[in-house]
Amino acid sequence: MFEMLCALLDIDVKALIAVLFWGNLAAAAIIFFCRFFIPDLRDRFLFFCSCMAKLLQAVAYFCIFFRGFLPNFVSVHVGDSLLLTGFYLEALALLIITRAFGRRLFLLLTGMLGASLLLFNGIELFYSDSSVRIISVSLGVLLIMSVPGARLLSLRQSSSLKTTVGGLYLFLAVLLIPRALYALFHDAAAAGNAPVQSLTFLSLIFLLMLGLPACLLLIKENSDKVISALATTDYLTGLPNRRNFSEQAARMFAQSKAAHSALGVLFLDIDYFKEINDRYGHAFGDAILLKVARLIRSRSSLRSSDFPCRYGGDEFVVLLHDVSPGEIERITARIIDEVARTRFAEYPDFSFTVSIGVYNGYPGRDDMLEDCVNKADAALYAAKNNGRNQVVTRGDET
Ligand code: GH3
Ligand code: MG
Repeated sequence: MFEMLCALLDIDVKALIAVLFWGNLAAAAIIFFCRFFIPDLRDRFLFFCSCMAKLLQAVAYFCIFFRGFLPNFVSVHVGDSLLLTGFYLEALALLIITRAFGRRLFLLLTGMLGASLLLFNGIELFYSDSSVRIISVSLGVLLIMSVPGARLLSLRQSSSLKTTVGGLYLFLAVLLIPRALYALFHDAAAAGNAPVQSLTFLSLIFLLMLGLPACLLLIKENSDKVISALATTDYLTGLPNRRNFSEQAARMFAQSKAAHSALGVLFLDIDYFKEINDRYGHAFGDAILLKVARLIRSRSSLRSSDFPCRYGGDEFVVLLHDVSPGEIERITARIIDEVARTRFAEYPDFSFTVSIGVYNGYPGRDDMLEDCVNKADAALYAAKNNGRNQVVTRGDET
C-alpha cells in the first residue's frame, strides 16, 4: 500500500511547478474578471490583495521553474521572496473576505512576512545552503498560511463553510512540514522527484484549487447574509420586520403553548403621528420612529428572550415569552415614562406620547397567534379611545 502511494507521488516536480504557474495565472485572470460581477471585489484593497497574491505566486513559480537557467539572484532570491509575499497577500485576502481582519492580525502577518524575508535572504546571502533555504521558506509559508486557518477555526460566530476552509488551509499548510524535516536531514538539492517534494507541490496545487472557489463561496455566503438581513429587517429602525416577526413569533407561540406558560403581546402605536409628520416633516417623524425602536429594544426595557418588531407605519409589536402581569406592567410603564421624557435637540419643547395595548394570558390549544395579536390590537384601540398615552390590558376572557 505504502509503495503504491509512493508510486502515485512519483510525479515530475517540474511539471507540478509548471501547473502552479499556469494555475495561479489563470486564478489572477479569473479574479480580475470577477471584479465586474462580484461587488465585494470592488473593494480596492481586497481586489489588490487577491489578484496580486495570485500574480506574484505565478511569477514566483516561473522563477523557480527556470532555476538553473535564470541568474541565481532572480531564481532564488526574487522567486522565493515573491512566493512568500504572494501567500501573505492571500492570507490577508482570506481574512478580509471572512470579516476576520483586524489591525493585530495585519501586524502579525506583516511581521511574519518581514521576518521570513529577512531570514531567508540573509541565510541565502551569507550561508548559501539549499537545505536551510528550503527549511526557512517552508516554515515561512507554513506560518503565514496557518494564521487565516487558525483564525477561521477560532471565530466565535463562524459558519460551517468558514470552519471547513480554515481547517483545510491549516491542514495543507501542515503538509509543508515533511519537506522542511526532509531538508533538515538530507541534501535537499539532490531530492529531485522524491515523494516528499511531490507531496509539497501537490499540497500547493490543492491550496490553489481550494483557495479560489473557497473565496468565491465565502463572498457568496456574505452576500446571502446581507440579502437575508434586508428581507427580514426594517430598513429604518433595524428591528425585525413583520415578516420576520411572523416566523419567529410562531415558534415562540408554539413553545408557550407547549410549556403552558404565560404569553404577552404588546401593541404600541405613536399618538398623533400623522400630525407630527405634517407639522415637523417626515425626516423628523423618522427620527421619532428610530428613537422609539431604540427605546423598545434597549436592555432596560426588554429581556433578551423578548421579541420586538416594527409591525408597520408607527406600530410596534413585542412578543414576551413566559411573562407575569407584574413584569408587563414594569416594561410598559418604563416605555411610557421614557417616551414622555424624550427630547430632541432641534425642537427642545417638543414631546410625544404612545399608547400600548397588551394581551397577557395562556393561549389555549386551539388559539392562534393572530388571536392574541388581535386582542392586543383591540386593547390598543381602547387605549386610543380612552384618551391615548396609556396602557390597556386584555386577558383570555375577552
Ligand atoms: P393615532 O394617535 O390614532 O395613532 O393617530 P396617528 O396620527 O398616529 O394615526 P396613524 O397611527 O394611523 O398614523 C400613522 C402615520 O404614520 C401615517 C403615515 O404617514 C406615518 N408613517 C408611516 N410610515 C412612516 C415612516 O416610515 N416614516 C414617517 N415619518 N412616517 C410614517
Ligand atoms: Mg399612531
